[in-house]
Amino acid sequence: EFNVSLPKLGRDELGQLSSSIQTLANDLERLKNERNEFLASIAHELSTPLTYLIGYSKVAMREGMSDKEREHYLEIIAEESDRMKDLVKNLLDLARMDETSFTVTKGLFPARPFFEGIFKLVMPSYEMKQIKLNLVCKFDFQIFADSIRLEQIILNLLDNALKYSEENTEVTLEAYKNNDQTVIKVIDHGIGIPLEETELIFEKLYRVEKSRSRAYGGSGIGLAVVKELVEAHGGQIEVTSILGKGSTFTVSI
Ligand code: ADP
Repeated sequence: EFNVSLPKLGRDELGQLSSSIQTLANDLERLKNERNEFLASIAHELSTPLTYLIGYSKVAMREGMSDKEREHYLEIIAEESDRMKDLVKNLLDLARMDETSFTVTKGLFPARPFFEGIFKLVMPSYEMKQIKLNLVCKFDFQIFADSIRLEQIILNLLDNALKYSEENTEVTLEAYKNNDQTVIKVIDHGIGIPLEETELIFEKLYRVEKSRSRAYGGSGIGLAVVKELVEAHGGQIEVTSILGKGSTFTVSI
């Protein structure tokens, strides 16, 4: 014989319990939808560069092609592979952050060569879209940060500045020291962000207007990673933007 004692639940408590279960079920459903949406956007993000890679590698293998033509296709292949690599890197970071096993290793390094290196790295993609990139880093100073992570932060911001700008506009990467902090600004004259959405864009998966993001590509994870990386440094990130005029992202570390 078993003697199981169940707590006696009154009508109110039963009601509360059933509504809690309902809330839980709704949350689960929402999470499931978010996860599916996330997976769909990742799959989409990866499949676009893959399509180029497959297409252009087939073209590059054609017989009777001049070296110059072949070189052109190989350049596109290299660029798309880089984009995929960055995306996968961001994804891995995002996963790692959720596991809270993510750390930054700070060190002291000179600013000027660091920014010049980034400038050289992104120059070709800016040139391809005919957007002028300016580097304003007047004085050499020392930065105390994780240089690899900081590079990742800036590359993500420069990537967005490029993506959300029209041809023949300018983007400025500016860096200076303010007291003990290093301030980095990425200033573009692109499509801008609606005021009410300037905080939301740092959330995971958030993209301003789905249609607009589809037109420009993107997965809505770049800025979530950037924010986590900045905060892991004990720093802040801010954005000011005017719709149709441009945006300025400011990182202080
Ligand atoms: P995505 O991969 O969609 O670009 P992000 O997390 O990097 O994801 O950015 C989130 C959203 O913020 C983007 O979908 C875009 O609408 C907006 N955004 C980010 N940077 C800029 C920018 N420089 N100019 C205009 N909109 C931007």
